[in-house]
Amino acid sequence: MKIKEATTGLYRVPLRNPHADATHGHMNQVELVIVKLFTDVGIEASGYAYTIGRGGAAIKALIDQELIHLLLNEDPRYVESLWEKMWWQLHWVGRGGVATFAISAIDMALWDAIAKAAAQPLGAILGLHRDRVPVYGSGVDLNLTLDELLEEVGCFVERGFTAVKIKVGKNDPEEDLERVNAVRNFLDGARGRGRIVLMVDANMRWDVPKAITMGREFEKLGVLWLEEPLIPDDVEGHAKVANALSMAVAAGENLHSKYEFKRYISAGALDIVQPDVVTLGGVTEWLKVAAIAEAWNLPVATHFADEIHVHLLCAIPNAMYLEHHAYRLDDYLINPLVLKDGYAIMPDVPGHGVYFDETKLTPIDGVK
Ligand SMILES: [Mg+2]
Repeated sequence: MKIKEATTGLYRVPLRNPHADATHGHMNQVELVIVKLFTDVGIEASGYAYTIGRGGAAIKALIDQELIHLLLNEDPRYVESLWEKMWWQLHWVGRGGVATFAISAIDMALWDAIAKAAAQPLGAILGLHRDRVPVYGSGVDLNLTLDELLEEVGCFVERGFTAVKIKVGKNDPEEDLERVNAVRNFLDGARGRGRIVLMVDANMRWDVPKAITMGREFEKLGVLWLEEPLIPDDVEGHAKVANALSMAVAAGENLHSKYEFKRYISAGALDIVQPDVVTLGGVTEWLKVAAIAEAWNLPVATHFADEIHVHLLCAIPNAMYLEHHAYRLDDYLINPLVLKDGYAIMPDVPGHGVYFDETKLTPIDGVK
């Protein structure tokens, strides 16, 4: 199998509802950079990178100008070798950021081709541990009023989710505590199949003293994990927070390589590992992070990209949760993720199964 052609497209995807967290403000769109690979055996494969509204054109340019030529006439099954070539091609300007996003989209497409060539789901190619994984409902909801927040959480409960995450990081910490307390009480009133788990996400808003102070309050409310209390650059700070709290500290969506995860984990700065296949460098790098986590006896709970992460979580022993993210791409997917009784089901189709209906996508001017 040889790659004969590769194409890219850049699209803007409006979100159904505007969202907000503690650091990125209001967000109302996602960008998608979709890569397609065409092989000499008739297999067409695809992968994608997403952004939260900025940077997509740079990712597409890196793929078009620096990476595609590395793929032509190469065999997708040599994905480790191709990943290494891409990493070193962009190393000077890369080792993270948009370079990693560009590699991710291609790596995902390479794995799609490998799985399609074997006529197997991606998870099966990687070696299955399970065929479904528990999901948690994840709100990007700092902009919601308390009533709206409880309504959102109620929708998660109605759908059978056994865990829920909300945003924190309001200017007034008392407001954060009021919201978390209200959601905890609501969930306790709604419990059916045991206590519904609650997590919180500060999206890098705080410093160490504030994170520890808030974390101690959240512990009293039985919150399972505190996500991204600090900027991702502050490994030592995360270790201090993790040491000071009995609740778990979670992070990973802003870590862009296995080396960054290694630094965090070896510093004792993470209790729950949250790799994102798009921000991290693709399936190849994601699997290595999951293995590092396993060796440190840590669970993996993914960030966004639910539809492809279901394959990856089904293929590792230390899977904890799939994030069912508030940013839904279902309207644009040919086969949206299937959820049942609080679990996401790995699709039993060849490849990863994450294919966009491009008739519903809006190309960004002049760059399709
Ligand atoms: Mg997060």
